[in-house]
Amino acid sequence: MQKRPCVAVVLAAGNGKRMGGPVAKQFLEVNGKPLIFYALDTMETSKVIDQVVLVVPEESIEYVKKEILEKYSLNKVVRVVAGGKERYDSVRNALRFIEKDTYIFIHDGARALVSEEILKRGLEQVEVCGACVAAVPVKDTIKRVDQDGFAVETPERSTLWTVQTPQVFAGEIIKEAYEALPETANVTDDAGVVEWYGNAKVKMYLGDYTNLKVTTPEDMILMKSFLKK
Ligand code: C5P
Repeated sequence: MQKRPCVAVVLAAGNGKRMGGPVAKQFLEVNGKPLIFYALDTMETSKVIDQVVLVVPEESIEYVKKEILEKYSLNKVVRVVAGGKERYDSVRNALRFIEKDTYIFIHDGARALVSEEILKRGLEQVEVCGACVAAVPVKDTIKRVDQDGFAVETPERSTLWTVQTPQVFAGEIIKEAYEALPETANVTDDAGVVEWYGNAKVKMYLGDYTNLKVTTPEDMILMKSFLKK
């Protein structure tokens, strides 16, 4: 059976404020290359991913095309799309350009250390159930707290997973769910949109503890040490 085309949506349109400093975090250099290069390079050499739709701030589109895509020959990027106000606006902008009959791997560009193994596990799982997300079991005890910071509940740890990306969906499932999403919503990941719309059950597949989202300066230190390995 021929596999559906696999299209990665790589999100890099956040403002990266938590990093501090004047340069948006996705363009900060790590070992001489912009942070966003790393995830794109993994997609470029991947046997799983066929095409990439990259989402960046509108004002960065020309810079990204010239200084990143051309410079590093990232030829799988077929389209560079302007991001929106919230993450889900950015995803919505990208989904418009992707056909239904695909598997769509939605990935935070800030998760620079995504690996071919994670992409493979995502493909294996999406072929079975149509909607799945990379995740790892939580190591810490998690508390739900009230607005004054008092513990309200301690959920059973063995039932909790930290969700990462790629979040992988059959094209028709994720497009249908996003099309139904109101203009403003309260969702921070794509699985949340499908859970809300209810057109598929979302399965966890194993990500990796090294697949961290580089958000703060400490994460940058961690990333560099993982890169050394
Ligand atoms: O803000 P958060 O850390 O959840 O962002 C996750 C990813 O989504 C980052 O790679 C960021 O660049 C991207 N993003 C985006 N458009 C936004 C907000 C975030 O592409 N409006």
